[in-house]
Amino acid sequence: MQYKAPRGTQDILPGDSERWQWLERTFREVCALYGYQEIRTPIFEQTELFQRGLGEATEVVTKEMYTFEDRGGRSLTLKPEGTAPAIRAYLENHLGGPGQVTRLYYITPIFRYERPQAGRYRQAHQTGLELIGSGSPEADAEVIDLTLRWYRQLGIQQLTLKVNTLGMRDCRTRYREALLDYARPLLRDLSDEERVRFESNPLRMLDSKDPRVQAAMAEAPTLEAFLEAESQEHFERLLEILGTLGAEFEVDRRLVRGLDYYTKTVFEVQSPDLGAQNALCGGGRYDNLIQEIGGPPTPATGVAMGIERALLALEAAGALPETAAPADAFAIVLTKSPEAERWLADWRSRGLRLLTDPERRSAKSQFRQADKSGAPFAVTIGDEELERGSAKVKQLSTGEEREVAPEAVVEHIRSALEA
Ligand code: AMP
Repeated sequence: MQYKAPRGTQDILPGDSERWQWLERTFREVCALYGYQEIRTPIFEQTELFQRGLGEATEVVTKEMYTFEDRGGRSLTLKPEGTAPAIRAYLENHLGGPGQVTRLYYITPIFRYERPQAGRYRQAHQTGLELIGSGSPEADAEVIDLTLRWYRQLGIQQLTLKVNTLGMRDCRTRYREALLDYARPLLRDLSDEERVRFESNPLRMLDSKDPRVQAAMAEAPTLEAFLEAESQEHFERLLEILGTLGAEFEVDRRLVRGLDYYTKTVFEVQSPDLGAQNALCGGGRYDNLIQEIGGPPTPATGVAMGIERALLALEAAGALPETAAPADAFAIVLTKSPEAERWLADWRSRGLRLLTDPERRSAKSQFRQADKSGAPFAVTIGDEELERGSAKVKQLSTGEEREVAPEAVVEHIRSALEA
């Protein structure tokens, strides 16, 4: 039996995993510039957290969750997103209080039973931010600014920032009704499944990819007419700050996002290099979520960024970084003397990244392995070298070889690598 990784999942192989590390390291560095601290939450949570947090009617909850019962009869769900767990942990561990601002970041796998395709997986990975305890447009702008800074730092140049406002609960309720009224004739023509979906979340008709829905919604009322003054002012101020940050953006009145919890600001960063799944990230304000899952009324804003999508965008733009050699040198060990092992231990202690052949095969075989390994240097230690008190250090690209005293080997290789 040949086993395969489950559909919609991928192995991250050596070489690629280095790129993941680089991308995550860069994210941590950018987060530190704004004072965000990492939170790590469990891979699974009580199912109800997501039902309540994301909304019973969202597609993620109705169709995509990996839900199972454990042996104790509890319903658990592999996390389909990072925000509800982060907020659950924030509340449970009292990470903030009234008037306090808490900044969290996470790097996590997410699990969604989606139809796999390029850029869409059943296990995907996200970096994310949550800025909890501030209702200001400045807070939204900070999250957007950090997000864009990360992308630029990674070398993703082609970006489109789209922003919109969804208003607060009341205006949204009235707007949903207006949309449903407008869409009655369309809804009659749709399948039962689609009709139920749109009736429970009519905003999704606005960003539907179905051409029939798109055509029918072309003249639909926009949310703008229903927006409260407070949301309108919030949005205007946000756009003003984005302007001063030098961020290029488009106001997209059809941007609604898939998760129910958003209020006021929503945004997405898209990459033209990505094809159909062109969203690099999505985020926005979620002022009701914390109360929804049992906390005190607390405004918050955040973003979730797809790691695979960032890598795909870099790859499409030919901007993926080269992967480094797995070692600085391959040690060709031709003796059983403990002194040779001491040399190796000493070089590693001083930071030299060393490969060896654990089988200690013939000189010829070890040289071949050194060539294949990608390490730029081969260092030979045999009985002769031990007697002379020097190792043979060979630069594999040029073939140049030198006798070097053991205490000088690390320095010799390091300066050659820097040159
Ligand atoms: P969401 O949590 O749906 O707002 O998604 C935020 C970002 O995560 C998206 O813009 C994508 O970059 C990424 N993402 C979400 N779901 C998937 C998936 N199934 N496969 C790959 N990336 C995903």
